[in-house]
Amino acid sequence: MTVRMTKSLAWPVRVTALRPGGPPTLRHVPDMLPYVPEPPTVRPWDPRAPHVARTVANLIGRVRPDLRPEHVGSTAVPDLAGKGVIDLAIPVPPDDIPAVTRALVEIGFGRQGGKSPMPPTRPVLLGAIDYEGDRFRIHAHIIPTTSDEMHELRTFRDTLRRDPALRDRYVAAKRRIVDDGEQSGQMYAVRKSDFVADALLAIGARPRPADAGPPIEPGATIGILGGGQLGRMLGIAARQLGYGVAILDPDPFCPARAIADHQVEAAYDSVKGARELAAGCAVVTYELEHVSAEAVEAIVGRVLVRPGLAALRATQDRLAERRFVREQGELTTDWRAVRGLDELSAAADELGYPLRLKAPIGGYDGRSQARIAGPDDLAAGLALVERQEGRARPLLLERELDFDAEVSVVCARDLEGRTLAYPVTRNVHDRGILVESVAPAPIDPLHAATAADIAGRLARALDVVGVMTVELFLVDGRDLAVNELAPRVHNSGHWTIEGAATSQFEQHVRAICGLPLGSVEPRGGAAMVNLLGSGPKRAARLTGMPAALADPSVAVHVYGKRAVFDRRKMGHVTALDADGDVEAALARARAAAGRLGWAE
Ligand code: ADP
Ligand code: MG
Repeated sequence: MTVRMTKSLAWPVRVTALRPGGPPTLRHVPDMLPYVPEPPTVRPWDPRAPHVARTVANLIGRVRPDLRPEHVGSTAVPDLAGKGVIDLAIPVPPDDIPAVTRALVEIGFGRQGGKSPMPPTRPVLLGAIDYEGDRFRIHAHIIPTTSDEMHELRTFRDTLRRDPALRDRYVAAKRRIVDDGEQSGQMYAVRKSDFVADALLAIGARPRPADAGPPIEPGATIGILGGGQLGRMLGIAARQLGYGVAILDPDPFCPARAIADHQVEAAYDSVKGARELAAGCAVVTYELEHVSAEAVEAIVGRVLVRPGLAALRATQDRLAERRFVREQGELTTDWRAVRGLDELSAAADELGYPLRLKAPIGGYDGRSQARIAGPDDLAAGLALVERQEGRARPLLLERELDFDAEVSVVCARDLEGRTLAYPVTRNVHDRGILVESVAPAPIDPLHAATAADIAGRLARALDVVGVMTVELFLVDGRDLAVNELAPRVHNSGHWTIEGAATSQFEQHVRAICGLPLGSVEPRGGAAMVNLLGSGPKRAARLTGMPAALADPSVAVHVYGKRAVFDRRKMGHVTALDADGDVEAALARARAAAGRLGWAE
């Protein structure tokens, strides 16, 4: 179970009980006491745990009789050793979560403090009660009814109750973490989650991907919708494994052309083109999520499409994506869907400045969005975004976050449903374009583990087969807010080509072909710097390669685009530091990138 928690706060304690139906009477009700964190230990199961759970559930029932708190977690499983915290899970529709949280705080539960708490969209409230002379710590998990988590918690609990061998393995996994000296209850929970994830898969609580079938063997052709640099690097990985490569792209000089066996020259939304691509392929994937869902729909059923339509639909529209992320209980910045100037200014007043206004469809590299610093920018921001997007659809208005760092997680999900995340990447953008990345991100390991956990959850919920990337903001040294999802390989994962045992491109090919995933182990500290174009549009002629490659720890990737123009992504530079020093790697990557340029 995921518990992002650390310290407790002081809060009011007194509760007066009313007997329903009769005159008000005072009856003994245990006081909710402050929660005091303890380092994790593995102690024997306490047979009083179910009674404690029922007592707390009754306490909650007095203020919200409609709720159905359920005893879950290890204390709900007779004879299962653990740290002895009583977990109660309360399924609640997302819109009711703030009210339920307040009700629990009123009866004496505390909110999580510290770093990396669970988000307010899937909160955990903390308390303790004295029972028969001992103090029991309580975690009240408020679970959105729109996520699968309640089902997973119940299934895991019920399977553990039935299966003594699983209990033994679970206790052994817990002991290993505690014997390792883990002091943080939160890290302990995250480190257990791999075991729990594997167990849930094995017992069928997590459905296998919808279209699981036999592996696709080398010799078959992989189709890629989109022929940009991502398609090119995907194609290179596919070729290395022995697959054929076919691409769809309208541009006969697109970057992936050089490595493709076959190109269908058609627009990204061409149904005819998609059908032509599918005809020769064993599986079709995409390098951009802005291919039209209609074109993909037209080939589903004729050919395997991975990741599938659910992932594509949920991520190509920013508003749908936000709703999905919220339904899963993950945090995002506050946002509204707005149409026209009146709605925009009303929503802006509610949210407060500064704001970002984004077109729901088609934006990338910071295009199709405007920064709105104050009321004076509203009309111009709206005009700018509407010029690109049109007026047919509502736009996404969101609060700009003053983040500590931007990070991303590239994770893969295989045909068995297993997820595997690369080390978290720290990213820097300039006016919406990724400029540089380092990995493993020099951030708190708890934040890194939490970010990876979020990515895995979202990939499962979207039934992704392949690589998916999650962009997040780290805010106030504690919260991770999801910014964007991409059901594909990602610029922030380019460092994996040299910097990880398996590149994100090979990983994606393995996943969509039903092959085992490769290791995501880093090979030291990695840094990636994008080579962006500058100056007017002209034929692209790279200069400075010998000087850039004078540093032997540096690798240069050039995408083969015929024309260069200002801020166009033309290639990237990666540098590795064997001692794991990402800042040192970054300095070398920047220096090498600085030696490269484009002839006038
Ligand atoms: P794109 O599809 O262009 O990548 P994003 O929504 O990811 O669109 O925005 C690009 C970049 O703009 C982000 O990586 C981030 O640097 C910045 N940005 C976007 N939204 C916000 C926000 N709400 N608060 C702060 N920065 C933001
Ligand atoms: Mg982005």
